[in-house]
Amino acid sequence: MFKLSRAGNNMPAEVQRWQYFLLKRGIVQVGVVDSSFGGNTELGTKIFQMEQGLSAHGRVDEETLAAAEGAGYSILNGDYYAQRSSSTWPPKPSGLASPSSAWRNQLFKCFEFLQKPLHQRSSKESIVIKGSCDGAFNDWEEEFITNVPDDRMQFAASYNGYFRCHKYAKPAILGLMDAWEEADLMHLVISYAGCYVSRYIRGGAPDGSGGHSTRQSSATTKLSNHSFGSAFDICTTWNWLGDRPAICGQTGSVRELVEIANAHGFYWGGHYTNRKDGMHFELTEVS
Ligand SMILES: [Zn+2]
Repeated sequence: MFKLSRAGNNMPAEVQRWQYFLLKRGIVQVGVVDSSFGGNTELGTKIFQMEQGLSAHGRVDEETLAAAEGAGYSILNGDYYAQRSSSTWPPKPSGLASPSSAWRNQLFKCFEFLQKPLHQRSSKESIVIKGSCDGAFNDWEEEFITNVPDDRMQFAASYNGYFRCHKYAKPAILGLMDAWEEADLMHLVISYAGCYVSRYIRGGAPDGSGGHSTRQSSATTKLSNHSFGSAFDICTTWNWLGDRPAICGQTGSVRELVEIANAHGFYWGGHYTNRKDGMHFELTEVS
């Protein structure tokens, strides 16, 4: 088990678990899930101890953990993180890869888009999506992108209470939230950075600053899956594009979320071969 205290040598992911547990019980004094056991978490711990009729010393000791376990808290073996500390854990899934352009254009429907001159873009990769390629819809975003309310990420920084995603990705995203919560892993999601964003992949926009006129999404492999509303980013600060994703047990690590995501048809950017994108989960075809 992992004991925790303000001055202790705490395992960051276990502090996240504890903070999440207290917040979920309505002990709002904890504030945020950030892996740092400071005065707020200590106060929240004391409140929990008082609720349980325990001595309110503010340390998560054996007695406190036993009471928490009775309230649904997961107690891990002391070697849990040591067994998962490799930078190659979890292994790449077999039978799963980034989605092909053909697959996503078929499932989520091809769209027409343009790129404005550089000085008019919010980012170098930004695009403007217009209608569907088949002419059925004048406004692809209006037709296919929807706000999906869900409270599972309620304690994640920058989460506003809903996913803005493709309506055909909605069941998979909600299914994944069900599964992550069922596995008691939501304490790992400490920040959220969006789903639908119309853009090329980072560094994937055409050269030059002039932009381009209307093209079809099926004609390029350089569009981000965020453009289709079928990918989302979490815990960005600890899993920057191009960096080694945070190791299991460390602040902001998402590695424990990956195997379940894979089982639900989501590929993890931390498994990219060339440029790791550990914040990124994208819906893909299951072969
Ligand atoms: Zn992403």
